[in-house]
Amino acid sequence: MAIYLSKALRQRLVTIDDHRCAYCGTPQANSGNPMVVDHLQPRSKGGATIFENLCFACYLCNLFKGSQIQAVDPLSGEITPLFSPRRDRWSDHFTWNEASLHILGLTSIGRATVIALRMNNTVIVDARRNWIRLGWRPTID
Ligand SMILES: [Zn+2]
Repeated sequence: MAIYLSKALRQRLVTIDDHRCAYCGTPQANSGNPMVVDHLQPRSKGGATIFENLCFACYLCNLFKGSQIQAVDPLSGEITPLFSPRRDRWSDHFTWNEASLHILGLTSIGRATVIALRMNNTVIVDARRNWIRLGWRPTID
């Protein structure tokens, strides 16, 4: 659903997220679509349209996240919060496999988010393989 963002708020997101998905790191230039604005706490659950509750996400991460705010850690079976780009540091919870094709969860939050957002779906993995052939490497931060 389209949402209205003030120019200043959109610019603040651009500055922080640099037109990259805050979940899977896909740059907008590689995604084939403009980034969408994701509400960390969904609007359907009372999430406000304020900087602290927003991030850029690629179409698929946003689609698969839907209105979820937590998911099951496949290792422990425990329900855990999803990764929050505004609260959590990406490299504390995720890393790339050796080939830079798959995102690996390092923590319960990371593992649950990789599964819930299907961050290694075949579409994005195929795309990463093609970008890597062209010299792209994921940024870690
Ligand atoms: Zn993504």
